[in-house]
Amino acid sequence: MERIEVKTRESTELIDITEKLKEVVKSAGVDSGICVIFTRHTTSGIIINENESGLKQDIVAILNELVPKGTGYLHDRIDNNAHSHLRAVLLGTSVTIPIDRGELVLGSWQSIFFVECDGPRRREVYVQIVEG
Ligand code: ZN
Repeated sequence: MERIEVKTRESTELIDITEKLKEVVKSAGVDSGICVIFTRHTTSGIIINENESGLKQDIVAILNELVPKGTGYLHDRIDNNAHSHLRAVLLGTSVTIPIDRGELVLGSWQSIFFVECDGPRRREVYVQIVEG
């Protein structure tokens, strides 16, 4: 099990963690298997998509549009961040990627993102590599 630390700067933000994950997989020295990437936080997500600046802004915009802040959510009575939890629900908490010949099997346009939904914060992403 490895941990990657992610520092976020915005309230909602995509952070590309692909290169860090490639390093983790390389240093594990596993020829074939799977890599599970997981966030332990309830107001963040892990997704795979294209690292293109316009698209990253589009994803933030659609999250804002689909789940606007403070429209009477019950959880806002507790700590005022219901929209952050609800956006995280749409994204999911983990992705699983095959490993072949010691490398993550990613398409040429695929990058792995940590998605902050309640920043800025210091976050941790867990990486588990299973040989097989
Ligand atoms: Zn909360």
